Amino acid sequence: MDYCLREIEGKQAHDPLFMSSYSTVWLHGPLIVGAGPSGLAVAACLKQKTIPTLILERSNCIASLWQLKTYDRLRLHLPKQFCELPFAPFPSHFPTYPSKQQFVDYLERYAERFGIRPKFNETVKHAEFDQNLGFWRVRSVDKAENATVYMCRWLIVATGENAEAAVPDIQGVGDFGRPIRHTSLYKSGEEFREKKVLVVGCGNSGMEVCLDLCNHNATPSLVVRDTVHVLPREMLGKSTFGLSMWLLKWLPIRLVDAFLLMVSWLMLGDTARFGLDRPRLGPLELKNMSGKTPVLDVGTLAKIKGGDIKVRPGIKRLKRHTVEFVDGRTENYDAIILATGYKSNVPYWLKEEDMFSKQDGYPRKPFPNGWKGKNGLYAVGFTKKGLLGASMDAKRIAEDIEQCWEAEANHTSAFARSHLPQPNS
Ligand SMILES: Cc1cc2nc3c(=O)[nH]c(=O)nc-3n(C[C@H](O)[C@H](O)[C@H](O)COP(=O)(O)OP(=O)(O)OC[C@H]3O[C@@H](n4cnc5c(N)ncnc54)[C@H](O)[C@@H]3O)c2cc1C
Repeated sequence: MDYCLREIEGKQAHDPLFMSSYSTVWLHGPLIVGAGPSGLAVAACLKQKTIPTLILERSNCIASLWQLKTYDRLRLHLPKQFCELPFAPFPSHFPTYPSKQQFVDYLERYAERFGIRPKFNETVKHAEFDQNLGFWRVRSVDKAENATVYMCRWLIVATGENAEAAVPDIQGVGDFGRPIRHTSLYKSGEEFREKKVLVVGCGNSGMEVCLDLCNHNATPSLVVRDTVHVLPREMLGKSTFGLSMWLLKWLPIRLVDAFLLMVSWLMLGDTARFGLDRPRLGPLELKNMSGKTPVLDVGTLAKIKGGDIKVRPGIKRLKRHTVEFVDGRTENYDAIILATGYKSNVPYWLKEEDMFSKQDGYPRKPFPNGWKGKNGLYAVGFTKKGLLGASMDAKRIAEDIEQCWEAEANHTSAFARSHLPQPNS
């Protein structure tokens, strides 16, 4: 193990943080938490600079969000050129919007190419900077609840914006008596054939799940509580995302927004007529200010227009097999799918408050400055700018660590030599 300086077994019952036995591993290089695309990207960038890393991943595979928690029909929402990780364009034979299996294959090959071998089934439960030692002390547990404490000079948080399902409090949830499932557990409309299903949340996932349900002869309704920007995925023969990026090089954001809204109106009509009111701010300005992503329509709107998908307002409460909406209407449903998004889990395990907000688990500094904290702490993939943002973070972090790598590595070796029993001593 090139990342390991020294491993010592220890029983430290007097240590209030770790009451049971655990092993300690001193790392030469950075520790990365999370083996999603962000973790892999930063490991690859560091590998290019010959800096060894260790990735701890709580599940049993890389890209667990994509492999274990997404629906079958998922494709990248953005064209492949905007989803590349550093040093690795997508194969030219891949379609513009690769399927989830193609994306996973791409990531598997990426990990293989850079010799990235995460330690799986290791959940990081606690990380804290030890001021006295000048090292991060990171405790993880495996499936059998065996604990390991990793001591490292650099800690890179790559646990993602989608680490845990965000589930809203809905009154009467225990009374409904039929399946209520978050989209992270939804695979396909097949199991809902002929069923009446309520989908809560009108982001990209909620809209696409509705379409999937329609395609499997289910009868979906969509809860739309807030305003939402729905844009065609392509306009004028180009991807809407690519076109927006290009226009932003020349025009101010408000003008680009006005253009996007005008073309959307021409292509989709007035979405408010179908219950989808648009926010006051334009799609790009809103994304910049709040992180709220516009929906890129892949066919759901036509189903809404055609009446195959009904739009409903917010839920007031659930009763047995029944949903009462805020407008007073009640309807029976066979199942509810919560397309209510995800949240960061950083506040649960990282004991640090300068860099990450305790409220939402995101870096306090907005893009592009949220990647670096104090004492060798970094964040990759918290930009609300998808894989493109993660790649930018990864490159910056690797460059930053490289600058102090040699000096710090010598410091670590000297520290380990003077504090730890040496093999032949
Ligand atoms: C349905 C869907 C479609 C999307 N489509 C696109 C798209 O087309 N283009 C785009 O740019 N972005 C897209 N995104 C955004 C998405 O966030 C990124 O694609 C990408 O998965 C982010 O990578 P990540 O590594 O930051 O996070 P993740 O992929 O979530 O990876 C984080 C990893 O950290 C692990 N982890 C979490 N906590 C711990 C812990 N305590 N200990 C150890 N391991 C831990 C998790 O198990 C996970 O494997 C999409 C997101 C969703 C949900």
